[in-house]
Amino acid sequence: LTISFVFTVDIDNDGMTAADERNTLIWDSVAEVPRIAGVFGRHGITATWFVRADNQLSDVYGDAAWLLREHNAIWSNLRQAGHFIGWHPHVVRRDEQGTFVAETDDRRCADALREIHASLTASGYHFTASRIGEAFHGNQSMRTLSELGITVDSTAIPGRRRDDSSRRFDWSVTPNQPYRPSAADYRVTGSPALPIVEVPMTSAPVEGPNDPRPLTRYLNLAYRSDILRAAFKRHLESLGEGDHVVVTILHPEETRGPVGHPLYAHDLQTVASNVEYLVAAAGEYGDVAIATLEQVARCAAAELTYV
Ligand SMILES: [Zn+2]
Repeated sequence: LTISFVFTVDIDNDGMTAADERNTLIWDSVAEVPRIAGVFGRHGITATWFVRADNQLSDVYGDAAWLLREHNAIWSNLRQAGHFIGWHPHVVRRDEQGTFVAETDDRRCADALREIHASLTASGYHFTASRIGEAFHGNQSMRTLSELGITVDSTAIPGRRRDDSSRRFDWSVTPNQPYRPSAADYRVTGSPALPIVEVPMTSAPVEGPNDPRPLTRYLNLAYRSDILRAAFKRHLESLGEGDHVVVTILHPEETRGPVGHPLYAHDLQTVASNVEYLVAAAGEYGDVAIATLEQVARCAAAELTYV
């Protein structure tokens, strides 16, 4: 049994994950990236970093590739250290008041992805991996990514579904393992399938101090250690025979900031000890490998039957 870890980080504007901030664009937490990379580096980890590039950046800054350009030195240092950079589009539209809201219409999202991709290509940016912002996807957006030459997507949060004023996504039936999405239902495999491989973020029952019962959540390296450890232990115990992929998530803004959050430690030292714990705990169950998303997808693509 081999457990392959993919450590992923999403580069969002400040407040996006903490407070659904979609209109005031501040990027101070990007400065944390080298420190986070240092933690990974000390543990021999090459990670996967999803960097925002989308229609909101082109609307606000006149360039979908604004963040890639603005902090080019950071991304190229990561690449030189063996890290992998993926595309992280937060597709937005403006509502009647001119406020940015998340695009949750599949057709419009797919069209926007095509437009953003064309502008990135024209600027010389080429990606093979994607993660759509706010966990949104649909049949047309998944097919469009595949047609655009994206070989691996990592947007799914298996077992989670939300349809409220803030988020709209449905991964309730998605498995906690790589699959080729069915053309008829992006959430599961099926025939005919798309060439793209979906490598979901690993979800597990996570129990925060204010939760009446564990809630299926992604494995975030910034959780308080006791919470992440308990969740990962439950996850390991649920694994069957065979090889498994564990995809963790982190946002730079979660590595600093206010203490006292029930779920997040907001502390880089905790991230470091969480990384150590995950690798050591997995080592008691089997062999441990550390890979980028692209490496895992390549292995999965070779093994997954494709009709
Ligand atoms: Zn994001």
